[in-house]
Amino acid sequence: MSTAIINISSLVTNDPSLGEGPLGLIQDAAVVIDDDRIAWVGGTSKAPATDNAVDAGGRAALPGFVDSHSHLVFAGDRTAEFNARMSGQSYSAGGIRTTVAATRAATDEELEANLLRYLREGLRQGTTTLETKSGYGLTTRDEARALRIAAAHTEEVTYLGAHIVAPEFADDPAGYVELVTGGMLDACAPHARWVDVFCEKGAFDGDQARTILEAGRARGLTPRVHANQLGHGPGVQLAVELGAASADHCTHLTDADVDALAQGGTVATLLPGAEFSTRAQWPDARRLLDAGVTVALSTDCNPGSSFTSSVPFCIALAVRDMGMTPDEAVWSATAGGAAALRRSDIGRLAPGTRADLLLLDAPSHVHLAYRPGVPLVSAVWQRGVRAL
Ligand SMILES: [Zn+2]
Repeated sequence: MSTAIINISSLVTNDPSLGEGPLGLIQDAAVVIDDDRIAWVGGTSKAPATDNAVDAGGRAALPGFVDSHSHLVFAGDRTAEFNARMSGQSYSAGGIRTTVAATRAATDEELEANLLRYLREGLRQGTTTLETKSGYGLTTRDEARALRIAAAHTEEVTYLGAHIVAPEFADDPAGYVELVTGGMLDACAPHARWVDVFCEKGAFDGDQARTILEAGRARGLTPRVHANQLGHGPGVQLAVELGAASADHCTHLTDADVDALAQGGTVATLLPGAEFSTRAQWPDARRLLDAGVTVALSTDCNPGSSFTSSVPFCIALAVRDMGMTPDEAVWSATAGGAAALRRSDIGRLAPGTRADLLLLDAPSHVHLAYRPGVPLVSAVWQRGVRAL
């Protein structure tokens, strides 16, 4: 069954061979979906015959957002912490313990219902691929069940047993690293694609992070790193050295960090929801882009430091406060996210890619930044199925 979406005012393909500029823009465009794949893109007047047609009515279309960084297997609520922070207290990694206690106490059904709620919330705002992590269990049983629950709903699952040192190991961090790289890894590796570590003061130092990432890699997991969020540190350069798919946050960077990212194969994933929600310094996207670094943009959706599932909101922040152009921000939230997950079948619209796309109630993708906070996503196809 083939469907043509016609009369698209402006189509972002992210394939420069198909249209204008880095976004591969096509004006007055059409897209043909066949089953779960894109079969054809081009001008509406040249669209081939199909079984069905949907008239986009002059709306803009773009690939579904690829949100490559979230923490959605959790229970509980941290409204009070946010309220306190907005009343003057500063953010530290310690608040994670509140969510750990609530997550351990929750049933599987509660955790799954909560995950589905935020997956649906993201979908309504155009997210068609979402990575999510463990990291609020911090016991072998609770980390493995978080990954099992996540893997039932997304293929992009990350083992983050090394989110913080589990409270039971407060006096024995080395013992916790042993668990994370031993029995916990054994239980978790079968359910995950990625291994991650929070490499930060108050969480894990460079040596611990290296041990954890290397152990995960030896079990077939590919590294990604929470790096340089709260201050300068070894995370970014470790990520590049170990061939991580992505270094995430990248807020506090030295010139050597930027050079390493520019020369290596690691994507810099920027998460402005975290800086927004902690009133912290913005990451400098302009500096990274000018150095030739591949930049992704994601929500970091989690109940503590960035409780937004909205990629459009992050695009608006990146344009307003991080020096990105609207084109760059849209690319980073689609093709950039795909690069951070090492995927070539999503994040662009070209023959053979997955039919994940959305229509905006606007004539151009620029409106995502031009009209902040406005729910512009008016239709979503996921794997060729109309999901919204
Ligand atoms: Zn995170």
